[in-house]
Amino acid sequence: TKEDVKSYLFRNAFVLLTVTAVIAGTILGFALRPYKMSYREVKYFSFPGELLMRMLQMLVLPLIISSLDTGMAALDSKASGKMGMRAVVYYMTTTIIAVVIGIVIVIIIHPGKGTKENMYREGKIVQVTAADAFLDLIRNMFPPNLVEACFKQFKTSYEKRSFRVPIQTNETLLGAVINNVSEAMETLTRIREEMVPVPGSVNGVNALGLVVFSMCFGFVIGNMKEQGQALRDFFDSLNEAIMRLVAVIMWYAPLGILFLIAGKIVEMEDMGVIGGQLAMYTVTVIVGLLIHAVIVLPLLYFLVTRKNPWVFIGGLLQALITALGTSSSSATLPITFKCLEENNGVDKRITRFVLPVGATINMDGTALYEALAAIFIAQVNNFDLNFGQIITISITATAASIGAAGIPQAGLVTMVIVLTSVGLPTDDITLIIAVDWFLDRLRTTTNVLGDSLGAGIVEHLSRHELKNRDVEMGNSVIEE
Ligand code: ASP
Repeated sequence: TKEDVKSYLFRNAFVLLTVTAVIAGTILGFALRPYKMSYREVKYFSFPGELLMRMLQMLVLPLIISSLDTGMAALDSKASGKMGMRAVVYYMTTTIIAVVIGIVIVIIIHPGKGTKENMYREGKIVQVTAADAFLDLIRNMFPPNLVEACFKQFKTSYEKRSFRVPIQTNETLLGAVINNVSEAMETLTRIREEMVPVPGSVNGVNALGLVVFSMCFGFVIGNMKEQGQALRDFFDSLNEAIMRLVAVIMWYAPLGILFLIAGKIVEMEDMGVIGGQLAMYTVTVIVGLLIHAVIVLPLLYFLVTRKNPWVFIGGLLQALITALGTSSSSATLPITFKCLEENNGVDKRITRFVLPVGATINMDGTALYEALAAIFIAQVNNFDLNFGQIITISITATAASIGAAGIPQAGLVTMVIVLTSVGLPTDDITLIIAVDWFLDRLRTTTNVLGDSLGAGIVEHLSRHELKNRDVEMGNSVIEE
């Protein structure tokens, strides 16, 4: 009936608006391309999109802290330990599968044709071992200064003036290769300056460090009995307040996404400059990501929960589109929360606990891309990788995806770890940079999908703990 249609439309208003925004943004972008806007004009034009990015990012810090604190505090230590294990097993499994898909697909399709001379110069590149990569990751888990961790700057644009490598001191792993990094970045700058104007850089936080701290803190206040009540109440109400702000931003999101997409289409370079190998590389990455996102992850969800993955994914549409529009899984986090809790009815104790962690460390798309891109660069250089080197690439690609911040093109920066670990020239990141803005959007969407399906899987596996806890707390238990 008419009433049904009306209520259906209202319930799906966000999804409809968001999908409309993507279509309208694409059309508008292509319609405006012939006018060849200047860099300044593009910036003015995409201003509403920039505002959306800033609003979402504004909420990320309090959201991560308050949701993890309340999430941990709401569970008893045995339950949180078990759920934590499940989440970690899921993250590791899916990341490793993603890396394997990336490696297999790039070897099969073989997009790099070895047109360059073997550029490997002995001794020019500082060798970084996989062990170094892990130590560096663990270092970042314990930020010596929490306040500083909230302000950490990641510069992911390649403008000479604004680029800073995301490391704090020389004692870290990347410190060892910093000279090579800045050299590589200078080449990037040159190329970018010639080709296309660079969007502004993005600020981030050392989310990994904050996640670790908040989990420990939440765990402690959860076990503090009455003394912890004030803190539990505080974080609970902080979390609620932030989620209400998210609800407000949701109404603005479609407009922001429209301009983010249109602006990017207006400023992107002509496809003509993309050569055959690069086009093949792009296709290879897309195929790999599709296999992972459309086949592997939904299948895994189905095998574990016996529920229809596509219904679940349907509820995530807005988060997925936001990921596509913003290229940032941490900026998307507020929307991911909303979609999972409201559309898919995932228990808040699960989302609060696993989503912030997932958005920070679980990046299937990034892991797949890092391994694939490294092997592509080896192929272009006629550099034969032996089995040991391929294993090294898979380990460092995993570490690099865990270490990458959930911000635009962070994966491109952590690629340096993968390349140096097998002695590939870091300068060759420049080979793939022209298409990275696009591939970044796709891998970010895969990352968000992986986190969200993970939340569904962990909830399913933890249903008994959740129910027991409800009984214990005297909550009303809804039978399945
Ligand atoms: N942009 C990605 C994300 O936010 C990270 C990456 O560059 O791979 O998930």
